[in-house]
Amino acid sequence: MSTGDQRSLYSRRHATGTEQTPIAVDAAPQAEKARKIHTRLPVIDGHNDLAWLIRTRAESDLDIADPRRRLDGYHTDVPRLLEGGVGAQFWSVYVPSWSPAPLRHTIEQIMLVRRMVDRDPEHLRMAKTATDIARIRGNGRIACMMGAEGGHCIEGSLGVLRALYELGVRYMTLTHSESNDWADSATGEERHGGLTDFGEVVVHEMNRLGMMVDISHVSHDTMRHAIRASRAPVIASHSNAYSLAPHPRNIPDDVLEMIADTGGVVMINFYPGFLVAETAEKAHGIFTAGRRLRSRFGPGEEEAFEQAMRELVAGRDWDRGSVTDVVDHIEYVARIAGVNHVGLGGDFDGIDMTPDGLEDVSRYPAITQELLRRRWSDPDIDKVLGKNTLSVLHRAEEVATIGRS
Ligand SMILES: [Zn+2]
Repeated sequence: MSTGDQRSLYSRRHATGTEQTPIAVDAAPQAEKARKIHTRLPVIDGHNDLAWLIRTRAESDLDIADPRRRLDGYHTDVPRLLEGGVGAQFWSVYVPSWSPAPLRHTIEQIMLVRRMVDRDPEHLRMAKTATDIARIRGNGRIACMMGAEGGHCIEGSLGVLRALYELGVRYMTLTHSESNDWADSATGEERHGGLTDFGEVVVHEMNRLGMMVDISHVSHDTMRHAIRASRAPVIASHSNAYSLAPHPRNIPDDVLEMIADTGGVVMINFYPGFLVAETAEKAHGIFTAGRRLRSRFGPGEEEAFEQAMRELVAGRDWDRGSVTDVVDHIEYVARIAGVNHVGLGGDFDGIDMTPDGLEDVSRYPAITQELLRRRWSDPDIDKVLGKNTLSVLHRAEEVATIGRS
């Protein structure tokens, strides 16, 4: 989507009568200023699922789905990342909770991301540290890190956790949509009331390694428990404010306050089901139906299951929200936790619906434009776009150094 289409995107939303504030995009000097800010590649995005989509749609074949070229039907490719001013991306190496071989599949996903980066040295480089990110981004390239989603992928082994760190994983989401043997998920069965003793050991080992603890997807009790257990600030790599959209996966105010007290960051997710209150309820209903559907498919039937899910959600008439809803969540987290504790984790290619104005990774400047329109200062915008996330990674590295000495 080219930037010239912005007016129609906003006016479509406007025409529904759900948005009262008129945005005169063409007249907005903010559009030009936002574009300028993004030429510096300031965005550090916390969560992107391109690797999972390449696995399921293209059998992990990078000749079929080559991110160096425009990938129609995907949200992400390198040309559009550059257009969106993305200077660093955490690539999710997600495997589903129901995977029959979580570790094997996670390693395959890690190697897929590494192959993708190795094939495009002109634009992409792997980063191991926060300093690497700053350097690579400063050279006009996109720094790449990985996040494992979720904790079932270590198959209960701290040795595996250490190996994932060695392979480049720099955060781990403690659960995905189901509870595992040591942590409860927001959308799974409540089994432990938070973390088990071993769950605390996992968090401590992540601290020692310098792997960030990610509280997206976990239950509210697991969020609180993980923040109390962690010696480093935690992240939510792709989560929103529960007070604005009451999906169980979103973050309640008391946890936002804990994140403020301990120095973490909440990276805002663009999925309408976590953004818009009414859509959150419907999305949770679909999730429950999807879980029932999943039980009808065997292991290795990801593509068939995803097709069945597409049929399940076809024709839904949900309020998708818009870039203004995303900025509402940014402002809410900034108000409750403080401006040093909010960032971006769009969840592109992990979501089957996007808000108006944020159709793909080229559209991050629309967020900046809306922040400028709401009279945010340049230094605060920089914090949201990436500075806060970089600070938390720095801090995780410092805690690791102390833990190893
Ligand atoms: Zn996720």
